[in-house]
Amino acid sequence: MKKEEVWQAILAQIQLNLSPANFATWFKNTRIVELQKDHVVIGVPNNFSKEWIEKKYKKMLIKIIRQFNENIKTIEFKVDSNRAFQNPSSTKAPQIHPDQLRFEELYINKETNLNPRYQFENFVVGPFNELAHAAAWAVSESPGTLYNPLFIYGGVGLGKTHLLQAIGNRIVKIFPEKKVRYISSERFTGGVINAIKNQTIEQFKEQYRKYDVLIVDDIQFIAGKEKTQEEFFHLFNTLYEKNKQIVISSDRPPKAISALEARLKSRFEGGMIADISQPDFESRVAILKQKAQERNFIIEDSILEFIATNIQSNIRELEGALNRLIAFQKLQNTETLDLETAKKILKKVIQPKSKRIDFRKLTKVVAEFYNLSEKDLLSNSRKQEIVRPRQIAMYLLREEVKYSFPQIGKKFGGKDHTTAIYAYEKIAKDLEKNEDLAEEINLLRERLYSE
Ligand code: ADP
Ligand code: MG
Repeated sequence: MKKEEVWQAILAQIQLNLSPANFATWFKNTRIVELQKDHVVIGVPNNFSKEWIEKKYKKMLIKIIRQFNENIKTIEFKVDSNRAFQNPSSTKAPQIHPDQLRFEELYINKETNLNPRYQFENFVVGPFNELAHAAAWAVSESPGTLYNPLFIYGGVGLGKTHLLQAIGNRIVKIFPEKKVRYISSERFTGGVINAIKNQTIEQFKEQYRKYDVLIVDDIQFIAGKEKTQEEFFHLFNTLYEKNKQIVISSDRPPKAISALEARLKSRFEGGMIADISQPDFESRVAILKQKAQERNFIIEDSILEFIATNIQSNIRELEGALNRLIAFQKLQNTETLDLETAKKILKKVIQPKSKRIDFRKLTKVVAEFYNLSEKDLLSNSRKQEIVRPRQIAMYLLREEVKYSFPQIGKKFGGKDHTTAIYAYEKIAKDLEKNEDLAEEINLLRERLYSE
């Protein structure tokens, strides 16, 4: 197998571990310069990226490279000077070096910030995402009139970004005159902060008011950020009043975003809310087939079924497993893969289903979910925003990790078992009548079992 192909396979894996922006920034103009038995030399475009990649990504790279070839012991980075396309000031279209990766991430549209890879055509629909898909499709047919805003929520790696971007891409296609903009709420926040710092808030507002379709991904990240919420609230109203389409995603329903202002919550609830849950087995197989086909990879059904049986909760991980097989096959230059070999290759990514959840994992997940530090969660604080998550953590510790009440009390600031029992019973009782809480706890469970 040629080193270009090896690098493509490795990049595919790296891509799964990085944000698209980081991936494009650091791995765009890279290639394998030399591939020896136990040593790889990677060419990078300049000294700055050499230092950065060495510092930040070397460990990850070694790990990934060794997944493909266990004999590799060392890697080295070299500034790769004789490359035509790396002159950043060059204004002509970049010449694509044959070794260079052609990931579409590099072709994100500057106007819309949309990635052409995410389309309705390659989005698999099943019972788990049917409603969200139907709503998304309807919005793309007639933006601004039907469901406004459209709010889509679901756990990590279940297709929210894909669906949001598919809406944008389709609108651009059928309504070329409409100005569409996709943005993550983190970038939006960054924009607000910069605008305040540079005193350009008016221009910032102006810029956003001109969009016909605004798509904001992962809105949960603006929770707790007052100024950003305020700007977003006004922007929302302006766009809404002009019948401009707003599409939002989140990892949880509006009600469960704890530090989100009430007026924003109620705006979000005023439109259409659709969730994406975990895909069923048939859908998982269908998604794998779709992905294999996209990559021109022929693979036995039994292998796809094996993956779908063992990876259940995250579509990104399904894809990761498939990529691993594709990479292996390319690397070995074999025609086909049998189930036994596939099982061996996937051993490291597929964990036994009974994988236990422990105390640390649980506190980490709960703290992250409620935007608290683990230290706060375990503290004695009586602030309401900490008390409730702490009770929920205790409840889950009992239910999911089967801790005894005295054990739970000890873990949470050395309290005695009556505190733990009280917390447990309080949550259990609330659960009976509070659907939002039930939903919150389900989301937490999904998260606990999804990694
Ligand atoms: P989220 O934003 O919910 O974390 P993404 O939209 O990033 O998830 O999806 C993760 C990966 O799974 C992406 O590569 C995406 O293309 C793929 N994916 C998710 N849902 C589907 C689907 N229904 N059909 C095909 N691919 C999907
Ligand atoms: Mg996403």
